[in-house]
Amino acid sequence: MNLELSEEQAAVRNLAAVFTDREIVPFAREWDLAESVDPAIVGRLGKLGLLGLTIPEEYGGSGGDHLAYCLVLEELGRGDSAVRGIVSVSLGLVGKSVNAYGTEEQKQHWLPRLTSGEALGCFGLTEPGTGSDAANLTTRAVRDGGDWLISGSKTFITNGTHADVALLFARTGGPGHRGITAFLVETGLPGFGRRTIHGKLGLRGQATAELTLDAVRVPDSARLGDEGQGFKVAMSALAKGRMSVAAGCVGIARACLEAAVKYAGEREQFGRPIAGHQLVQDLLADIAVDVEAARLLTWKVADLVDRGLPFATESSVAKLFASEAAVRAANNALQVFGGYGFIDEYPVGKYLRDARVMTLYEGTSQIHKLLIGRSLTGVNAF
Ligand code: FAD
Repeated sequence: MNLELSEEQAAVRNLAAVFTDREIVPFAREWDLAESVDPAIVGRLGKLGLLGLTIPEEYGGSGGDHLAYCLVLEELGRGDSAVRGIVSVSLGLVGKSVNAYGTEEQKQHWLPRLTSGEALGCFGLTEPGTGSDAANLTTRAVRDGGDWLISGSKTFITNGTHADVALLFARTGGPGHRGITAFLVETGLPGFGRRTIHGKLGLRGQATAELTLDAVRVPDSARLGDEGQGFKVAMSALAKGRMSVAAGCVGIARACLEAAVKYAGEREQFGRPIAGHQLVQDLLADIAVDVEAARLLTWKVADLVDRGLPFATESSVAKLFASEAAVRAANNALQVFGGYGFIDEYPVGKYLRDARVMTLYEGTSQIHKLLIGRSLTGVNAF
């Protein structure tokens, strides 16, 4: 693997870095306190092409490879994980699934809207009764003439409050993963309800919602992929999604490192900057190692994806390591800040709160250990 960035990759990283410093970092605290990012950020991301990376230009995308995508997510994650998540879901989980499984009509209808930021997507897999055990979901879609009627509920849905389209997974057949089908459901349809979930520990600026569907009628042309193929659509979206979470975690850990190094150079105790105390350097060094290791694991996944090689286990490895590393890095950074890390005035408390969910969503750390264990042994221990 060539670790030197191409000119295009360096340029897109620079674009995302400047955007993050100008349009995200100055507002992240305000958005966190208000429990809402500025919704106009979606249009701004679209205008820069950051919602179209890896999507072909003929559908309004900005092209680029998955390493460029990870570089962008690292920058956005450094600024605010709530913004990074908007891109990971609308482009990463929804747009890329439409590109991979959509009919020509679905691609032409949804991709230009999603990549420009004119429309926002959300991904509805989790239900109140099924989280890790997603293959047992109970939302149902039944045929009614040439249409489908979808009923059930989804919870913890990122972007759910504002999304224009939901990539929803519903049971159309028997039990287990083979009975699941994917649908692209417009959120304004009769019977589609949503409620914002407030009081989250972190990612407070991100709109997380509970969705309810009461006999929502969609045409058969809203089906994404074949009947019974929905779980495959979901799992292939999540395999890449985990790479994007990992990239976002590298961003959090890097933000922690930059904040902690700066503070350690400024804060004086015992007559010198705390950076001059060996145990503080120990904390900084641990964060730096986590940043580097998490980034390399993430880039490895991007490289495999771009070369068309299998990457699912590597994606679990990267997501598991990077999410746990982000939590460690934020905790270590908070320690460097001492009591000041515990108050809102400094960003490290937010980094820790935001990092904490990374070990939970898109597969908990336990689920990723089981996936890695299954790949090592061939034994399913779920
Ligand atoms: P559970 O599955 O109930 O797990 C509880 C605990 O049991 C965990 O520690 C888990 O690791 C452990 N556990 C479960 N099964 C096993 C096992 N077999 N072996 C060992 N341990 C096990 N979902 C979406 O579909 N779309 C979204 O956009 C989305 N966004 C989210 C945003 C936020 C902020 C949050 C908090 C969640 C989001 N989720 C989303 C849901 C997320 O993916 C789930 O929370 C996650 O999959 C875990 O499911 P659960 O919360 O039901 O936990």
